[in-house]
Amino acid sequence: MRASAVPARVFEVLAPAVCFLCGMPLAMEDRGMCAGCWSTVIPVPDTRCQRCGGETDGGEPLCLSCATQPPPQASTTVWGEYDGTLRRAILALKHHGRDELARPLGHRLAVRLASRPWLENVDAVVPVPSHPLRRAQRGWVAAELLARVVAKDLERPFVRALRRHGIGLQVRRTRAQRHDLGANSFRAVKRPHRRTILLIDDVTTTGATLRRATQALLDAGAAAVHCAALSIALDPRRLV
Ligand SMILES: [Zn+2]
Ligand SMILES: [Zn+2]
Repeated sequence: MRASAVPARVFEVLAPAVCFLCGMPLAMEDRGMCAGCWSTVIPVPDTRCQRCGGETDGGEPLCLSCATQPPPQASTTVWGEYDGTLRRAILALKHHGRDELARPLGHRLAVRLASRPWLENVDAVVPVPSHPLRRAQRGWVAAELLARVVAKDLERPFVRALRRHGIGLQVRRTRAQRHDLGANSFRAVKRPHRRTILLIDDVTTTGATLRRATQALLDAGAAAVHCAALSIALDPRRLV
């Protein structure tokens, strides 16, 4: 059996019952990290630009850029900064098979999304797909695991509606290169006809990926796309 075919709960059973970060024994209710380490995973204030998730000026709902040239997505929600314990937890989820972290992390994002007024319009939760090379390496990916948790918590269907193609791995690219990637890096493999989509990613940096994935869904017929990322890399040097 390939590793990718092993259900996540099997890994949970096999995973040692110690905090992956500090090595403390885990209580029954803890997942992946002990309560002390979870307490250091804190959200950013929910005051970022409602449209793109960027910095705003003095409590304005939109940043300067979105006030003049808004991105294709109807909104962007981010939960925490890609730094410290949250960064280490996402890296453990992405690269070290610590799938048990997906539920508590995804749940945090879902709680923030649950208060959004547009949520009642959302028809499906869609993950930002990883590059095919990364899928082949690992078989499952952080954004998809998180999107499944968000979909379950918010009681919406989970749909793999996008495929990524034709570009190299994001982490090897500079900010400028990510910005200049061709517009066709995503394509819809499901027709989201007149549907409102909640698009989920684990980390956002420049927002270019969310914009392109959103545009692919809109081009395929989606009525609106709301974006959500568990974390935002405020300092792109922290990406790797
Ligand atoms: Zn710990
Ligand atoms: Zn903005």
